[in-house]
Amino acid sequence: MKNQQFVMTGLGRMELQDCPMPVPAPGEVVIEIHYVGICGSDLHFFRFGRIGSKVIDRPFVLGHECAGVVTAVGEGVSGFAPGDRVVPEPGVPCGGCALCRSGKYNLCPDMRFLASPPNDGCLRRYMAYPARMVFHLPDAVPLLYGAMAEPLAVGLHAARMGRAGLGKSAVILGGGPIGMMTLLACRAMGVTQVIVADLFEKRLENAVRLGAQETVLASGTDTAEAVLERTGGAGADLVFETAGSPVTLRQACRCVARGGRIVLVGNQTEPVTLDLMPLMVREASIHPIYRYRNLFPVAIEALAAGRIDLSLAEPSIFPFEQSEYAFQYTTEHGQSIIKSVIELVPENRTEVVSQ
Ligand SMILES: [Zn+2]
Ligand SMILES: [Zn+2]
Repeated sequence: MKNQQFVMTGLGRMELQDCPMPVPAPGEVVIEIHYVGICGSDLHFFRFGRIGSKVIDRPFVLGHECAGVVTAVGEGVSGFAPGDRVVPEPGVPCGGCALCRSGKYNLCPDMRFLASPPNDGCLRRYMAYPARMVFHLPDAVPLLYGAMAEPLAVGLHAARMGRAGLGKSAVILGGGPIGMMTLLACRAMGVTQVIVADLFEKRLENAVRLGAQETVLASGTDTAEAVLERTGGAGADLVFETAGSPVTLRQACRCVARGGRIVLVGNQTEPVTLDLMPLMVREASIHPIYRYRNLFPVAIEALAAGRIDLSLAEPSIFPFEQSEYAFQYTTEHGQSIIKSVIELVPENRTEVVSQ
């Protein structure tokens, strides 16, 4: 057995390199990685070498969404054995600080997160990982979808923070990958009416396939007005801003219902000017979210029970050897691809995108 990894060696460039075979430290398992999803953050690092203050200044391994099979178990690990199908959660919190102990470990100041500098990612054949952040994947769930549990957890966290439930209406501003995961989460959690708005027709088609009842083509339309119209003038109980744009954030403030909740999912990287008066008179609130917490088991359970069907997302699959191409292709086709996933070890599947 030998280990290999794809290393980002410059902007828009990546190469395959041999690397040491990991040995599990106490508390760790070694995972043979079968699938790695390409996340928006991976693409951003690939193109620009940085996200805000997080800068890549050395050869770097991307990828934080993965699933695979345990091949070795370190000292003191119980509950795992070689051959187990697993999904690692990409963030390892300290486990001891007040936030960790309160359950809000996603806010841990000492979080180590895959593919977030200085920590390398998982675009490699084998990885040692703390067993306490690894979850079993039932046989009923393909490893391909196990690798998509991470973005799904983001969608579930957004829906939870918006207090999704029966009888509610929701609008998702932005039909990209995270918007689509939020849509799946809202539908699974019983939200009655889900509207998706985006600038691109193709993304709205995806949204309808994934369960949106209504869509708004945002180009040349006042999205907030359109949402008010589709909700009988009341506005949406939940407004998810997933585009990370000041424009959609302002729209969110205009189309949220009285007593409603705006959830900030997309990264607002620029300062933004807001008219807060519409929120005041409606007692509407804004909830920024950061990643997710305690939701991998929920995501995996929902997949196993068939409550969420990721096949609807029609992921695009690329072979490991073509990882660089996969990143380039996904960058160029961001408007049509919901999710790109790199395949290292095929699992009963056929249609693979090839160069
Ligand atoms: Zn991700
Ligand atoms: Zn902590």
